Amino acid sequence: TMDRVSYSYDAPVSQTLFDRAASVTPGGVNSPVRAFRAVGGTPRFMVSGTGPYLTDADGRQYVDLVCSWGPVILGHAHPAVVEAVREAVGHGTSFGTPGVGEVELAEEIVARVPPVEQVRLVSSGTEATMSAIRLARGFTGRAKIVKFAGCYHGHVDALLASAGSGVATFGLPDTPGVTGAQAGDTLVLPYNDLDSVRAAFAAHPGEIACVITEASPGNMGVVPPEEGFNAGLKELCAEHGALFVSDEVMTGFRVGRQGWFGIDGVVPDLMTFGKVMGGGFPAAAFGGRADVMAHLAPAGPVYQAGTLSGNPVATAAGLAQLRHLDDAAYAAVDTAADRVRSLVTEALAKEGVAHRVQSAGNMFSVFFTDREVTDYDAARSQEAFRFTAFFHAMLEGGVYLPPSAFESWFVSAAHDDRAVERIAEALPAASRAAA
Ligand code: PLP
Repeated sequence: TMDRVSYSYDAPVSQTLFDRAASVTPGGVNSPVRAFRAVGGTPRFMVSGTGPYLTDADGRQYVDLVCSWGPVILGHAHPAVVEAVREAVGHGTSFGTPGVGEVELAEEIVARVPPVEQVRLVSSGTEATMSAIRLARGFTGRAKIVKFAGCYHGHVDALLASAGSGVATFGLPDTPGVTGAQAGDTLVLPYNDLDSVRAAFAAHPGEIACVITEASPGNMGVVPPEEGFNAGLKELCAEHGALFVSDEVMTGFRVGRQGWFGIDGVVPDLMTFGKVMGGGFPAAAFGGRADVMAHLAPAGPVYQAGTLSGNPVATAAGLAQLRHLDDAAYAAVDTAADRVRSLVTEALAKEGVAHRVQSAGNMFSVFFTDREVTDYDAARSQEAFRFTAFFHAMLEGGVYLPPSAFESWFVSAAHDDRAVERIAEALPAASRAAA
């Protein structure tokens, strides 16, 4: 199949831009998976977005199934978000003082997600998870942390071991530049395996500060927690005096008003957020139990800070998006996800391509395997070369998928009948290519 992958649609303007980019930026991109390394071909430089569509520098339009890797849940250039940003930016871009927008955004998060009693705003999901584990270590006075293979929590040194997302896409076991000392307190365990967590607590009594997990992983493709897994983690943490940290950077405010917490109801000690809460701007957060958060400076001794934290333009965008995310908006996102999922299954089945569509609410991804995928090893054993063929045929058909077999696909409330129809039109050729 690999030999039959064709890049017959050429993108001369994107290619010229990519050549320029590569001469001044490593690999031509500012985040690795954007480079199309895993699938080959020319990464498309996008110049505008509206609703469910993106337009590239060559003037070609695509139905977007990446949605900026999650944040753009109302569709591109949503009028409420654009208007809120215009209004905010006219009053100045950053003050480095407390501001009204950050209070309102914090109140919105606390109101939506009951386990969050106190919240601190930061600028990226990476900062959120990095700060959460520092706080967990400061609160418990312990050094070790547990993470799961295939979960990605941003490019935090201690969390890059067996990480998903780009680390999975490029098949890296871990990354040079992270020292043994930085990763030495990280225990990496197989996902969906409570026995291994039990064994880790038994082997390291009184040493584990926290267990951090994606609330429902989307960075090895979508691999939801098995019934009782998150509850079991919480219980083991409570039993051993460790904190349970639920990373909802991807799921938060996306799979529902309360994120994954609204689906499984397991109460974490700390949670992390990003993506949707920033409305397409750099805004993220970590929060949780008030007694734990009280350890953060200036209330407590654990230091954490940021020049642009709670930025007025970013918080205005995030607030506008969250305020528009009512039940009707989530219903529209869920409906679009349902429709795309069943179209994909139907088209691949018609060509006899072994596959599994796995979902976590309105997040989903397609694994080219006939086995259920419950952990990172299973995710990596799929026939990823079929995805490569499928990806390029979809791109030629005017549908922009994540350029990796290890990522969630995202839809928005703006993915209407016409957008879904265009996906349906691209699927037969893509399914043939994957066969
Ligand atoms: N945590 C999860 C679950 C993520 O999916 C991501 C990003 O994809 C991060 C953390 C890191 O967020 P950011 O890319 O904003 O640093």
